[in-house]
Amino acid sequence: MRILLVEDDALLGDGIKAGLKQAGFAADWAQDGHAAKLALEAEDYAAMVLDLGLPRLSGMELLKWLRGRGSKLPVLILTARDTVADRVAGLDTGADDYLIKPFDLDELTARLRALLRRGGGQAAPVLRHGNLELDPAAHQVRRQGQPIELSAREFTLLHELLLHAGRVQSREQLEQRLYGWGEEVESNSVEVHIHHLRKKLGAELIRTLRGVGYVIDK
Ligand code: CA
Repeated sequence: MRILLVEDDALLGDGIKAGLKQAGFAADWAQDGHAAKLALEAEDYAAMVLDLGLPRLSGMELLKWLRGRGSKLPVLILTARDTVADRVAGLDTGADDYLIKPFDLDELTARLRALLRRGGGQAAPVLRHGNLELDPAAHQVRRQGQPIELSAREFTLLHELLLHAGRVQSREQLEQRLYGWGEEVESNSVEVHIHHLRKKLGAELIRTLRGVGYVIDK
């Protein structure tokens, strides 16, 4: 799942981005409110982690703009101080949850999963295909009820293919889902992850259309 992280503090942003990646999210990192706005206009995100104190356009202004255009994107705000006024203003403006700095990265990803599970406008339902089950919020894959261990990238790939079952996904489309901005893409990474998925889930699940892409048939 792709998350937009909006944080102007370089050190903190770097840490959060790494934490999100480790938790299996692809994260785009915007360092000011205006860049975040452009990203929201251009991309589809599953959720946003939003610092309130930002240059150019404050987190609160960005949130107002986002809700003003009817978006139900789940938003977790980061506030510097535990002031009741800040929290109330953030929640009133349409944030779904908040964390007070400093916070634990594990808590951030746990809160994010809870938000995705509750689902804003873009809920994350459990996907089923034959005896295979993928739960995006819990980040779990089961076959005949038995959990299957997948890497974060394998999970994301399988999620994308199941979400678009019956429709061919090009390698470029899949790469976009796997990698955040500025992350280097290994040239054959999609093929490698597909290979691993086939080993774990059976060769017949994912079909290759040579020169076109990959598909899980409905
Ligand atoms: Ca800040």
